[in-house]
Amino acid sequence: MASENSDTKHLVDTGQQVYVPNYAPKHIVLDRGEGARMWDLDGNEYIDLSTGIAVNSFGHQHPDLVAAFTEQGRKLWHASNIYYVEPAVRLAEEIVESTFADRVFFCNSGSEANEAAIKLVRKHASMHGPDDKREIISFEGSFHGRTLAAVTATAQPKYHEGFGPMPGGFSYCDFNDPDAISRMISDKTCAVLVEAVQGEGGITPAQQGFLKHLRTLCDKHNALLVFDEIQCGMGRTGKMFGYEWEDVTPDVVTMAKALGGGMPIGALLVAGKAADALPFGSHGSTFGGNPVAAAVARAAFRLARSPETMANVEKQGDRFRAALHEVNEELGLFKDIRGRGMMIGAELVDAHAGKAGELLDVCTAHGLLTLVAGPDVLRLLPPLTITDEETSEAVSKLGAACRAWAGA
Ligand SMILES: *Cc1c(COP(=O)(O)O)cnc(C)c1O
Repeated sequence: MASENSDTKHLVDTGQQVYVPNYAPKHIVLDRGEGARMWDLDGNEYIDLSTGIAVNSFGHQHPDLVAAFTEQGRKLWHASNIYYVEPAVRLAEEIVESTFADRVFFCNSGSEANEAAIKLVRKHASMHGPDDKREIISFEGSFHGRTLAAVTATAQPKYHEGFGPMPGGFSYCDFNDPDAISRMISDKTCAVLVEAVQGEGGITPAQQGFLKHLRTLCDKHNALLVFDEIQCGMGRTGKMFGYEWEDVTPDVVTMAKALGGGMPIGALLVAGKAADALPFGSHGSTFGGNPVAAAVARAAFRLARSPETMANVEKQGDRFRAALHEVNEELGLFKDIRGRGMMIGAELVDAHAGKAGELLDVCTAHGLLTLVAGPDVLRLLPPLTITDEETSEAVSKLGAACRAWAGA
């Protein structure tokens, strides 16, 4: 790679001084993207298998998204929820028409969508249940966001440290353990919150039958079933929602990340008996349903629904998985290669435990942007619209990076 130019050095140095130190960004300044390719300020080219963490699912500068953005950008940027705006009404209408949902609430991020879901299930319980029906159950290894309630639902202690006292009423159950959840759920449970494929927790799909088991238990105890589809939704697994790999119907779904294709937007989808649980004045968001974000999200949602996109997820996802298996036969780096569609995790063998970040850096040096999911798992979230040719290049870079890292 070319050496860092003075702009890169200046921006990295400045960022380190003026940002709160909660992130540790790579010393790369990303400057431009097109399709599955990105370029940094020094002109280095990358294939992007990180998609801004499952956000740029339709690649960079997708013509449909650029057109929606430009058209709305010339008309109206913001109006508040005191008035209707067309893009948000149309987006909600399209979501309701094509999913389980009866109603939609818009916000600006995944955490906010989960925050809204948490408030909705509590409100619903307060309207229809006994006073002590407050408990929300989530699962070990989950990730639901960083706001205080969403991070409390996130059943990973490392995210809680120092932020207590945490909001009460949250319980954590082992993921994929049907007996454990059968024991934990009770009439005091107002909701069960689950990712159909755990993302941050290591790309761990729910085992076949687990989500259906949750549905049965929720029905029995009059609790709402909430799917956090923020990472695994929007076509990422080859279906619109990750939960659709099982024959199960949710009460509530949260979306964000790829919904805006890069514009910040989150959504809460709700059906049936809970759809009226947030009455006038009970919740809100100044930016929620912002016309520019909603206009771009309509284009993104259309792409996510298209059979061509879904076929590509299956096709290219299989190619990435096959490439990982092939490289693994040669090098023996991974003990498990898992996930669905284009949500792929490769867990390092015990001898390399904790070193996923090292492998990621070697991938970057080979011109490939990847992610980790925890210390042991290399995570690939390619654009759902990645081309044959881009995949070929990505796969060859991935092989080269793995060989270089293994010293082979
Ligand atoms: C990223 C993520 C969130 C949080 O979304 P933000 O937009 O960062 O607040 C919540 N749930 C899941 C499953 C996620 O992957």
